Amino acid sequence: MKSLKFIVFITIMGAFTMMQAQNLPTGNAWAVTQNKDVTVHTYMSPASMFANTSHVIELKNELFIVDGQFFAPYALELKKFTDSFGKPVTRIYISHDHPDHYIGFGDAFPDVKVYALAETKASIEQNGQSVLEQRQAQFGPMIATKLNKPSVIQQPGAETIGNVKFIFEKSVNNESAVSLVIKLPELGVYIAQDIVYNKIHLFIEGDTKGWEKAIRKITKEKAYKIVLSGHGKEGGKNLLKENLDYLAFVNKTISGSKNKSAYKEVIMKQYPDYAGEQLIDIYLNYYLKPKHWIK
Ligand SMILES: [Zn+2]
Repeated sequence: MKSLKFIVFITIMGAFTMMQAQNLPTGNAWAVTQNKDVTVHTYMSPASMFANTSHVIELKNELFIVDGQFFAPYALELKKFTDSFGKPVTRIYISHDHPDHYIGFGDAFPDVKVYALAETKASIEQNGQSVLEQRQAQFGPMIATKLNKPSVIQQPGAETIGNVKFIFEKSVNNESAVSLVIKLPELGVYIAQDIVYNKIHLFIEGDTKGWEKAIRKITKEKAYKIVLSGHGKEGGKNLLKENLDYLAFVNKTISGSKNKSAYKEVIMKQYPDYAGEQLIDIYLNYYLKPKHWIK
């Protein structure tokens, strides 16, 4: 999900401001896969709150987190989950600079070192504080009081940490302009984050060719059987086809519809069991503007 324009949320997600922390639906956590050196877990906020994932990579003596939630109460739930292992969280990786992946955890994990690609680090340095303040003004206590910004640049390449091989890659022009992909070849795990959604409406801003290309690249990587998504549960390679089909259907529907409401009706009818209807409203109101649509 992308949005630097906080006003986007005021209209569509105003209901969340009414929510008190005690009335919030809770997230879920589970183990995805493991070998003798590492276990990968996922914590996910509820589907009604965009099913934002944070993955916990459990090494022998320490934990790494990939992405840190949008709403602060879910980052605190994530903290409860990581506390249950009795191992310190020593790194948080940020996959990309969309606020639902980096503004949530400043209070829950104020002192953990945050890693990101150079572009993501620079973007959060430039815009992170104002994005946080915008969200605070809008959502009050649902938003963290402070950011924990990236302080370490993650270079693309391979690293062995705690006997576990990690491959870090930079992916460009997918759902976001730049994103960090983390691969664990020994586990066959591909942490794709927002390149892949699972049963959540994909956030469409316009041309999707680069995004489709990034998904096809994962399809070709035969060593990876488990794909971890930024919104929704992990899946197998079938998830990639589902995402490609979704994008193809979106493009066909954009061409074949005359306006926002006609478009949305067709998408909702085709994907009735998907969560994240608000995401469609946000991108239709503020991002997706096909030339042939009647205003
Ligand atoms: Zn996202």
